Amino acid sequence: MKLVTPLYYKKFKCIGGACRDNCCRGQWLVGLDDETAEKYRRMPGKLGEKLRAALISEDGEVYLKRPDGACPLLDADGLCEVVKEAGPGALGVVCDQFPRFSEYFGDRKESGIGLACEEAARIVLGASPDEARLIEAPLQEDSYEDDEYDAEWDGRVSRVRKVFDVMLEAADREGGFNGLFQTLAAQLLAAADLQMAANKNDFKAFDAKLQALEQDRGEGVRRELAGRLRPLRTNAAASRNGAILELFSHLESIGPEWDDCLKKMRSYYGTEPRVSHFPQMAEAFETAHGDLAPAFARYARYLLFRYFDGAVYDHDLLGKSKMTALFCLTLEMMVMAEPEGCLMDAVHLFSRQVEYDEENMEQIAEDLTFERCARTDGLICALTHYTMQIG
Ligand code: SF4
Repeated sequence: MKLVTPLYYKKFKCIGGACRDNCCRGQWLVGLDDETAEKYRRMPGKLGEKLRAALISEDGEVYLKRPDGACPLLDADGLCEVVKEAGPGALGVVCDQFPRFSEYFGDRKESGIGLACEEAARIVLGASPDEARLIEAPLQEDSYEDDEYDAEWDGRVSRVRKVFDVMLEAADREGGFNGLFQTLAAQLLAAADLQMAANKNDFKAFDAKLQALEQDRGEGVRRELAGRLRPLRTNAAASRNGAILELFSHLESIGPEWDDCLKKMRSYYGTEPRVSHFPQMAEAFETAHGDLAPAFARYARYLLFRYFDGAVYDHDLLGKSKMTALFCLTLEMMVMAEPEGCLMDAVHLFSRQVEYDEENMEQIAEDLTFERCARTDGLICALTHYTMQIG
């Protein structure tokens, strides 16, 4: 086995009591693995009593009860009593691993850190272009057996992800929103093309397109994009923004902070001059806040690393590219609507509301597949500031 991680992965260390939005105070129900639940049931002393009083069972799963939204084992200093008294080895898998995530693909394990943790978000978004690169190391674990796994297809998906990351890294080094959003638009076009070949089982065409993409690092597809863009006759920005907000409004809310954020965005994007002049305002924002572009580039690279290889199992390459584009555009909308707010807080809130809610992620994946809001051409149009449409 080999382990694949971004170079920044090892930098993560929980900041515990100094954390402003401690995961132990989140609204999540934290599941316990069987071994840990059994250990807690048998634990002696006051800690054992406290743990047993906090255990609840639902649908065959065991959780730690959170009467006021906070873990009952969190002390007044924001520290975990289990770690303090019994050591980190006494934590369950979920508590021990958060915010780390792992996915398995045959003989490859991929691990990263997730943005629902503010310290992880600081590391991911603040990484240098080099630190966002992926590295490989040998791993003493058995290969992952899954009937759905197809090594040949995995090889193709991984190559697409690799060349997409090379393109994003180039945009990251170049700096600025324009190059980054043009790159995301070009990737949508390339992913649509590759998806069409894969859907027809035409892997000869797929491999030829992929090879061309690798050879010129996306230059050809950028040229193709430029040639296919046509001036936009109608002002689609207002309806597109409305549709994006509608999509997120339908998701289950994680709490008042997200409700408040959506309310502000609805009011901001539903008011003049944003309705009539959104493209110009978005361009002005990107020019004035070019210093935020590197963090957006790292965000796009994080999404690519974390989600793109999901296509190994669901065969939806295009859906993964659309998700990256949609999340980057939504993040920009969040930041524009809250000029006093901080990008890091927006990323963190969005991650908890969307990425770390399984049902919400499933809903978005379905909406993207059935193009309820985010059609490929609509996303390209949004990334090119609604001044062009794909023809
Ligand atoms: S959110 Fe991150 S930094 Fe904060 S307590 Fe949890 S793991 Fe530690």
